[in-house]
Amino acid sequence: MRPYGHVALIGLGLIASSISHAMRRAGLEARITGTARTAATREAAAQLGLGEIVETPGEAVAGADLVVLCVPVGAMAEAAEAIAPHLAPGATVTDVGSVKRAVVEAVAPRLPDHVAFIPGHPLAGTEHSGPAAGFAELFDNRWCLLTPPPEADPEAVARLAAFWEALGARVETMEADHHDLVLAVTSHVPHLIAYTMVGVADDLRRVTASEVINYSAAGFRDFTRIAASDPTMWRDVFLSNKEATLDILGRFTEELFALQRAIRLGDGEHLHGYFTRTRAIRRGIIEAGQDTPSPDFGRIGRKG
Ligand code: NAP
Repeated sequence: MRPYGHVALIGLGLIASSISHAMRRAGLEARITGTARTAATREAAAQLGLGEIVETPGEAVAGADLVVLCVPVGAMAEAAEAIAPHLAPGATVTDVGSVKRAVVEAVAPRLPDHVAFIPGHPLAGTEHSGPAAGFAELFDNRWCLLTPPPEADPEAVARLAAFWEALGARVETMEADHHDLVLAVTSHVPHLIAYTMVGVADDLRRVTASEVINYSAAGFRDFTRIAASDPTMWRDVFLSNKEATLDILGRFTEELFALQRAIRLGDGEHLHGYFTRTRAIRRGIIEAGQDTPSPDFGRIGRKG
């Protein structure tokens, strides 16, 4: 598959920075240009050597054969508008947004006909943001989901897939609405639950002084990691994946009520059966190579 000669990164946070690092690690020789909204981020990205950092999206995409939109979902429309007049004919435009239908609606109508728009979402991230948070291994063995429109040129899709594979990812294609439903289950609602639980504990902390922090055992500590995720990114995720989030949240609430009832009635059989089923899911994730089998994610015995 013909590699890209010039990759433009619009937005220079965790994901864009990791793309740049992973491209270098893979030995891809493409020219990398990039831009971010603020001078401070552009300066930081330049210092990290992420590529040729320029002031405007128009300058960044001029002559690029791959443009990757790496801004929050709510900023995608504005980014598409800014790059549209400067895109080279035949270029591929993609994005890394965590929601797909809203991005398709925001970006596709703003792009000229002479480019291919192939939305994407690498299922890889951390609770850190900004260019300094990026690292070359972020996409290793993680899925990158592409949601090409039905009329997309298969060769352009295969070329983008090969790019992500070179960065270490596994690639799958699916329909945008299906992506949004799957991600509501696997990522969006779990984040909402973590945000809620940490919020509840924070309220309690006022009552119990520092106990919540001092005794934060693994369960709560894992919630706090998720709940430390970027507020802008996650605000945009919920605002733009409203339907699927509310659907899954409704099912979640029903299950929660069922468990609440089992606890009230002392129905140990129900609780045990439920927890046995969920434990098997963790085993499945480990067997699929998507997490470590080490106890407590390998934190036990780890120094520092
Ligand atoms: P990030 O580290 O916070 O970086 C965001 C970048 O977008 C920054 O360069 C920022 O510029 C720029 N930006 C923010 N608001 C903007 C606006 N209104 N207009 C133009 N530029 C703006 O974010 P990230 O974690 O890399 O996430 C980027 C995208 O990847 C998001 O769409 C997110 O949904 C998706 N994603 C994230 C993860 C994750 O776990 N983090 C995983 C998969 C996909 P300044 O710094 O100059 O403000």
